[in-house]
Amino acid sequence: MKTPITVAYGDGIGPEIMEATLHILHEAGAALDIETIVIGESIYKRGLTSGIEPHAWDSLRRTKVFLKAPITTPLGGGYKSLNVTIRKSLGLYAGVRPCVAYFPFVFTRHPDMDLVIIRENEEDLYAGIEHRQTDQVVQCLKLISRPGCEKIVRYAFEYARAHNRRKVTCLTKDNIMKATDGLFHRVFNEIAAEYPDIQHDHYIIDIGAALLADKPERFDVVVSLNLYGDIISDITSQVSGSVGLGGSANIGEHAAMFEAVHGSAPDIAGRGLANPSGLLLSAVMMLIHIGQNEVAERVQNAWLTTIEDGIHTFDIYRDGMSRKQVDTWHFTRAIVDRLGRTPQKLRVASYPDSKLASPASKVVLPARPAPARKALVGVDVFLDWANGSPDELAQVLETANGDGLNLLMITNRGQKVWPNGMPETFCTDHWRCRFMGQGGSPISHQQIIDLLGRVGGSGLDFIKTENLYTFDGEAGFSLGQGQ
Ligand code: NAD
Repeated sequence: MKTPITVAYGDGIGPEIMEATLHILHEAGAALDIETIVIGESIYKRGLTSGIEPHAWDSLRRTKVFLKAPITTPLGGGYKSLNVTIRKSLGLYAGVRPCVAYFPFVFTRHPDMDLVIIRENEEDLYAGIEHRQTDQVVQCLKLISRPGCEKIVRYAFEYARAHNRRKVTCLTKDNIMKATDGLFHRVFNEIAAEYPDIQHDHYIIDIGAALLADKPERFDVVVSLNLYGDIISDITSQVSGSVGLGGSANIGEHAAMFEAVHGSAPDIAGRGLANPSGLLLSAVMMLIHIGQNEVAERVQNAWLTTIEDGIHTFDIYRDGMSRKQVDTWHFTRAIVDRLGRTPQKLRVASYPDSKLASPASKVVLPARPAPARKALVGVDVFLDWANGSPDELAQVLETANGDGLNLLMITNRGQKVWPNGMPETFCTDHWRCRFMGQGGSPISHQQIIDLLGRVGGSGLDFIKTENLYTFDGEAGFSLGQGQ
């Protein structure tokens, strides 16, 4: 029985490494029924800013398994990243990126490194909700949900269990972003308690990223938010030897996509130089996902043997360590010639069925608890204003006080500038003005609408509002810096 999969050859080096990968899979006996779709640059050039034709989604929905070569994303303009679109449209919430050292055959300063980055794929700043609000200021919304955190953290622990890993490390910046990163960290602690067989710890992302670059052997499974996960997975694949070695899986409840960590490498495209290893190792993850474990072992062991034999593409070739520098096609042939062999020194790939029940199938979200009691207690009114000092702005705004709502503070880029601001604080034209109900008592929508009427009536340009809520009596909003 052949497994239907969807394949896209991509841009730049994409076609070269996809041909190499499919040739090896075919020679290794993978039972695949391949549907090909076109995505990326050629579609963008035809004016489709999504980078994918509508009918390509039919194939992805039908096969639910996508082997994808890298594509070129146009910079700036009205284009959205197709990678992000596919991950989010198909609900591929878990980005799984293993990083292993192949020392002494591939040079790395970290011979004992063997870790997996599990990156949240759907949320965070990658929601891509951005606005220019004033002449000087633009914003990007960072959205984090409890179910999103629960899915990815649970996946990380299930992955660790299925792959006999001993520890899960969480990386966040919750010393600064107490609500968003704080939620991720809190959910991590809650779920970690359900997996007493697996150790857990947490670092702030800055020192965590530094340690990943300097002492990656300290880490095992690492789980993090979307942006941090994106950055640290490139760092780890680079320090393991080459970004050309990194494979990845994007796993969801309904579908999965497998792709190299690297991009379309236009600087070496069309020259037959590219290392196909990242895509090939992604394809190995795909074979395990569709239950063709023996073929996955055969492919990976032939690849490991080729690496051990010192037959290397230019990006990992090193005098004294490698034996022969080869192009993409000769590297591919060398792997095919070694099908059936196992490495002598590097760890033999072994994927016994019992271990590899997909971790995603075990990710079951708990029933949603009764929602917290939510009370509206104030509003932040954001203004575009460039006419003077914070005290002058406060004077105008205080004329809008009344009907149970009073100005409590003004911040500029989050820093409190009124009352008792510091003259040294640099101010832009973007102000957040906090109005609260008297004595913290609940207020109504109508009070906010009336307040905005008075603010607008004072000649001020309000650009947005954020309602301030308490949840079960606990403030659901941050203080101003310095408040
Ligand atoms: P890149 O990963 O394409 O290349 C970075 C460097 O690594 C280049 O010097 C390149 O030659 C080298 N390199 C990458 N893959 C290699 C391989 N297999 N063998 C040998 N050397 C390899 O990153 P970039 O140059 O920043 O991005 C190029 C394009 O790829 C951009 O349009 C970017 O948006 C896109 N991109 C796509 C994906 C994806 O489709 N998943 C991921 C990242 C970047």
